[in-house]
Amino acid sequence: MQRRNSQNVLLSTALNEFYGAADEMGLSEKLVSILSHSERRVHVSLPVEMDDGSVQVFDGYRVQHSTALGPSKGGIRYDLGVDMDECEALAMLMTWKCSLAGIPYGGGKGGICCDPLNMSKREKERLTRTYGARIEPLLGRWNDVPAPDMNSGSQEMVWILDTVCKMRGKLEPAILTGKPVTYWGSFGRNEATGRGVATCGLEFMKALNKHPDTVTAAVQGFGNVGSYTAKVLNEAGVKVVAISDITGSYYSPGGIDIRKAFEVIHNNPKKLLTGFEQIGNCEKIDDVLFADCEFLFPCARDGVINYDTAGKIKARYIVEGANGPVTPEGDKILDESGVVIVPDFLANSGGVIGSYFEWAQNLQGEFWSEEEYNNKLIKIMKNNFRLVWDYAEAKHVKMRRAATMAAIQKVADVVEMRGIFL
Ligand code: GLU
Repeated sequence: MQRRNSQNVLLSTALNEFYGAADEMGLSEKLVSILSHSERRVHVSLPVEMDDGSVQVFDGYRVQHSTALGPSKGGIRYDLGVDMDECEALAMLMTWKCSLAGIPYGGGKGGICCDPLNMSKREKERLTRTYGARIEPLLGRWNDVPAPDMNSGSQEMVWILDTVCKMRGKLEPAILTGKPVTYWGSFGRNEATGRGVATCGLEFMKALNKHPDTVTAAVQGFGNVGSYTAKVLNEAGVKVVAISDITGSYYSPGGIDIRKAFEVIHNNPKKLLTGFEQIGNCEKIDDVLFADCEFLFPCARDGVINYDTAGKIKARYIVEGANGPVTPEGDKILDESGVVIVPDFLANSGGVIGSYFEWAQNLQGEFWSEEEYNNKLIKIMKNNFRLVWDYAEAKHVKMRRAATMAAIQKVADVVEMRGIFL
């Protein structure tokens, strides 16, 4: 049977990992071909009136890879790299992420190809509302439930929710997650991805018999994922020696003052670390990825650890906070030098697990305390890490392969049970 491939690095990586795991599991060709395709791919054009009066038409996407286990779930990103293939790759990743996490969702992903840092708030609002209106037919608490992703957050979610609610003439808070606490969101959701990444990192240390007090770490990215990853690691005793964002990489062998880094981004209109070397009393280095440390947490974007960069990494352990930060070439180089990696769809699943908590509260009309939310999240993350770690040890495979196989198996079983429609 013809197998799919793509010019897009993320999609070809996702497909190759899927085919590799499927072959190792002996998955039937029927299931291989069903699961290597997305159920639905939607492309929308988004005309937006810019602040100077001109009209620009943006491209928006929403892909539903699988709804076998439940409504398709996944974020909406704003980035110049967004296209259909990227969304498809990330939607497939969401299917495995939700399956592995044990939450009743399928996988989806959406995005808008734009340069969000160079748009005004009003332009972003018009763009987001138009996108929300155009994908409205897809959305529903039992159909497709978006969330924030790269360069989006609670504000974008409220714009989409408000647009859809006005179109439908009724309130439907459970059609998306990542809402602010003041408007049907949940305590804990904002920090959930970073808390999950850090929890995974701490469990990883435990599995390696390392005490957090003796560990040094570098965190790439200081957005929603990286900032809370660094904070939670730091609170657990880990010395975070390097952090970064698009303004540069900051290094302090004695440990970065994470509280000060939060102060800097809170006071910066674009939430950036501009000028942190002075305030944080640290030095600027070329690249956080090559910092002298034991654990590396890439929490920025995909493809950063690749053929050119992998060989220069000093860390021995990597926890993937971002989606797809290591390319297959990077993976091979790291593997040959004995670096152990916790894969993205295990490490950063705290975000979507937290989304599930928010959705479940919305459906029930409940509001949990932050403590309840965090305790549940930490418990699930620890269990899931252990599950994959033990499976990888038992089968003598890498964690990525172990996690992919476990995730695919659950989806494949349900597809088989549900059967093909007519
Ligand atoms: N964007 C996050 C992810 O990639 C969260 C998705 C969600 O909560 O639906 O996992």
